[in-house]
Amino acid sequence: MKIWLNGELVDREDARITVYDHGVLYGDGVFEGIRVYGSRIFQVHAHIDRLFNSAQWIRLKIPYTKPEIIEALQATLRANQRTEGYIRLVVTRGEGTLGLNPTKCPHPNVFIIADNIELYPRQMYENGMPIIIAKTIRTSATMLNPAVKSLNYLNNIMAKIECLDANVLEAIMLNDKGFVAEATGDNVFIVKDNVLITPPPSAGILLGVTRGVVMKLAGRGQIKLAEKDIRPHEVHEADECFLTGTAAEVIPVTSVDGKSLGNGQVGPVTRKLMNDFHEFIRSPEAE
Ligand code: PMP
Repeated sequence: MKIWLNGELVDREDARITVYDHGVLYGDGVFEGIRVYGSRIFQVHAHIDRLFNSAQWIRLKIPYTKPEIIEALQATLRANQRTEGYIRLVVTRGEGTLGLNPTKCPHPNVFIIADNIELYPRQMYENGMPIIIAKTIRTSATMLNPAVKSLNYLNNIMAKIECLDANVLEAIMLNDKGFVAEATGDNVFIVKDNVLITPPPSAGILLGVTRGVVMKLAGRGQIKLAEKDIRPHEVHEADECFLTGTAAEVIPVTSVDGKSLGNGQVGPVTRKLMNDFHEFIRSPEAE
């Protein structure tokens, strides 16, 4: 396997960065996870724009232009003869000293991995998955802008650890006001009385690329859509629920905190959007 590292394609074994990198020492950096379907890089401009916005927010200057990064993604896919899969694009603060000061890190490290990813068993896409509502509260926007896709995932990992304890694979995280924010690595949608509802940006979420595509597909499919705050009891009382993310794609949720949603089956709105999503990713619009 070839990894793209700072402008070169190197063997996986040789793809190394220093232990003095602030990405390692402090989780100081930003990243993107991007899908590849039929040789097309899914929503590549949305991902690259988000990466540059994340970097700008933490005052990290990416030492390449957007077109150069896109060319690097394509070069990595070519080098690995990969036409399907998942790309991890990471920009770390780079090598510095043993202190937080980011100005001591003059050279960010940029690397690209092209691999496979399967977050949840296939069977759960057919029958739905059980999730919980985590006790760990999502980092609020006043602490760290959740729209920044940073290398700091411990908040989400703590919720993931709650999942492991509860024997499920995902959890919804609430914000500090008690409303639904997002899952540990996915956005959340519920359906109630045929209305599709998802938390607004003000709930403190990452603005998911998949979320955006699903909202567009809902509009095209004449599905009523509301971006509004969701209380935990509204999740328990929802007719349907699903999560969206680059790695997860669209995954149905059929039980929350051990209680079935609706009739416990994957509902019609979820099914339609899953089908529409799978059509969309193979269409020329996907890029
Ligand atoms: N929320 C969080 C916290 C995430 O890490 C992700 C990406 N894994 C998402 C939502 C979904 O975003 P996207 O659809 O752009 O992958």
